[in-house]
Amino acid sequence: MSGKNLKKIPLDDRTTDLMNCRTIKEQLPVRLRGTFVINEFGGECLCCDQPIATANMKGRVSAPFPFVAVIEAAGFCPECKFITRFRMRIKDDRTVEYLDREGAWAKEIVPAPSRLTRQLDKLRQYFSAQKCGLKKNSLFDDDD
Ligand SMILES: [Zn+2]
Repeated sequence: MSGKNLKKIPLDDRTTDLMNCRTIKEQLPVRLRGTFVINEFGGECLCCDQPIATANMKGRVSAPFPFVAVIEAAGFCPECKFITRFRMRIKDDRTVEYLDREGAWAKEIVPAPSRLTRQLDKLRQYFSAQKCGLKKNSLFDDDD
């Protein structure tokens, strides 16, 4: 798994800002309209594909509307000394949107609330694959 090219990604102000935030874990759970709950959030390092420790996953969790949660995070991998960015929007109608590498919002429907965590895992893997420019298994056939 080569991540050499990833080192070229500059550390921008927003990433620095996110790294100075609290951990995402400290800011969960988030409750949408009192029924839909987001309990956890995690992700893998773009360089080595290893899970980023929750202590190193920092950023902002907000609910700008009672039915929408936004998670923007930066995860630091001590092994690679690399910071991976995550951006995700979750609605209580079970739609999950995330920013793909073209800067477009990709959208997926979570089949059932109980499967949200599992679906988010898939999204993270997909997100990483996109950013790495690798051809992993297509997790979402509907995407271009
Ligand atoms: Zn890594």
